[in-house]
Amino acid sequence: MANIGFIGLGNMGGPMASNLLKAGHSVRAFDLVDSALQAIANEGGEACDNALTAVDGVDVVISMLPASVHVENLYLGDKGLLTAIAAGTLVIDCSTIAPASSRKVSEAAAAKNIPMIDAPVSGGVGGAVGGTLTFIVGGESEAFDQAKPLLEDMGKNIFHAGAPGAGQVAKICNNMLLSVLMTGTAEALQLGVDNGMDPSVLSEIMRTSSGGNWALEVYNPYPGVMEGVPSSNNYEGGFLVDLMIKDLGLALEAALDTGSATPMGTLARNLYINHRKLGNGRKDFSSIQQSFVEK
Ligand code: NAD
Repeated sequence: MANIGFIGLGNMGGPMASNLLKAGHSVRAFDLVDSALQAIANEGGEACDNALTAVDGVDVVISMLPASVHVENLYLGDKGLLTAIAAGTLVIDCSTIAPASSRKVSEAAAAKNIPMIDAPVSGGVGGAVGGTLTFIVGGESEAFDQAKPLLEDMGKNIFHAGAPGAGQVAKICNNMLLSVLMTGTAEALQLGVDNGMDPSVLSEIMRTSSGGNWALEVYNPYPGVMEGVPSSNNYEGGFLVDLMIKDLGLALEAALDTGSATPMGTLARNLYINHRKLGNGRKDFSSIQQSFVEK
């Protein structure tokens, strides 16, 4: 069993740390929010006053923070954690951040002989609570092999995407494609409905034809076509528009860095931003269907 320092006990990090405790590990934890610290202490974790104390003497450090700026501020600089973490201690950053930021921190860690992997997740809060997350890892094979058993205590599918930063790259590529598939599916469904088709009949035809895709298979955006998905529950639950916009922003940032053309991802991002402006940020991302309906 490992001694783990866990930083960031939010919607995702809280249940992830809780699953590590349930698996028998020791967890020293820090978050800026007192109630999050209290919650982990109630489950047997050790609530620490600051991040430096949380990583003191541990075997593994895990972070789950909102964005690049938080991760860079946590690890880098004169007072950053990399000044305090012992050489050889495995660092796992599970936050979804810019690949460039991830590489910057892991290079600084490597310079101090601290192996670091990026391990962003997919699966949402439900996956974090249920311990069924997918981890998409970037980093050296040795560090990946060392991290895998721990990641398995918090998730179900663990992928090694490649070198440091590759976990972030794979995640934003996937989510950019997902946004394109979802907006395209919503657009096609509305065109069919506007032209008199039953959305269920059209969905089934497209699902089994060359337009078939994940949205039509398991996450149909048209209300009433599929049971148990957000479109049949007023677009509640699922993956928030706000988070999709965050990931599409990271994809755009990465595209600017490398000079890559991402016309479809950029269009999807703009469609989602306009959708959010109408008050839909906290809805599931399949609610983009509503933006195609004439009011
Ligand atoms: P959240 O805002 O609920 O939690 C972030 C936590 O980090 C907060 O509790 C905050 O107090 C804490 N924090 C911020 N700066 C800190 C610091 N310097 N020291 C200690 N604690 C600090 O966010 P979340 O939903 O848990 O998401 C975390 C990451 O996971 C994000 O990068 C997000 O994009 C990614 N993610 C989220 C979901 C989801 O469905 N929520 C799904 C996949 C990936």
